[in-house]
Amino acid sequence: MRNVVDGLIGEVFALCQENRAGELADYIPELAAVAPDSFSLCIATSDGYVYESGDAHTEFTIQSISKPLTYGLALADRGLSAVAEKIDVEPSGEPFNEISLDPVTERPRNPMINAGAIAAASLIDGDDPEARFERLRRCYSRYAGRELSLNDAVYRSEARTGHRNRAIGHMLRSFGIIADDPEAAVDLYFRQCSIDVTCRDLALMGATLANNGVNPVTHERALAPDLVERVLSVMTTCGMYDAAGDWVTQVGLPAKSGVGGGVLAVLPGQIGIAVYSPRLDAHGNSVRGVQACRELSKELELHFLHVT
Ligand code: GLN
Repeated sequence: MRNVVDGLIGEVFALCQENRAGELADYIPELAAVAPDSFSLCIATSDGYVYESGDAHTEFTIQSISKPLTYGLALADRGLSAVAEKIDVEPSGEPFNEISLDPVTERPRNPMINAGAIAAASLIDGDDPEARFERLRRCYSRYAGRELSLNDAVYRSEARTGHRNRAIGHMLRSFGIIADDPEAAVDLYFRQCSIDVTCRDLALMGATLANNGVNPVTHERALAPDLVERVLSVMTTCGMYDAAGDWVTQVGLPAKSGVGGGVLAVLPGQIGIAVYSPRLDAHGNSVRGVQACRELSKELELHFLHVT
């Protein structure tokens, strides 16, 4: 079996490597300065075996792939219903950084767009900003199975240029979604986006979700099983932003992308798939990441509606 999967990963890798479409994120200099053709595809199984290819150990910032992890910690800290009062679970069909709330519910439409992610960050427990960030960092580290750290240069650039996210934070404050200082929630969000990961880390994060919240290598629990179901549900409907419909029809797996070039997909009970390739499409999703997941889903028949 391992040889078959290794062979398939090699084939999909070679196919996608030829694709040089898309552009690097350039809203901060650090993201525009990465090697554009860097590429890795990793699969981690729910029993802890990791298949690696390409630049599996190159670090890049997690960016929006942090959103489901923070949402999970907010659910653990506050409970499902208290979080649901603040953040809905409906796909938005809008770009990830849209300054919008649902006009009827006056809540962010889901936790995978920035409005919902900043609201989720505001719900993380901790005595002060340092303690809240440390809880997030430790939580992400449990998913990855190693100590993750902040990329300070990216964080400083995010904080210096993030006026749109600040606008979202203040909008949330004015609608009572954020109870106190919106700047603190936005700053925590900038920091969570600036945590460095590798493609291997992302695959293990996916495998942890696939394994019902327990890291399959360290056997540490990152998230309770009932919350895993909620997190994977919103990843399915909202994880690829306004490309979520295309993604579900073509790949059919819960997933999350980030503008750092990462994509993480989960086959519950089985595997986490991760791709790193920083050229992005118009939605902000990695071009090769989407392509590689589509090919793997087709070849391994991973679509959740596939009947054999
Ligand atoms: N830091 C980015 C932002 O908030 C993350 C967005 C993303 O990865 N889609 O704009």
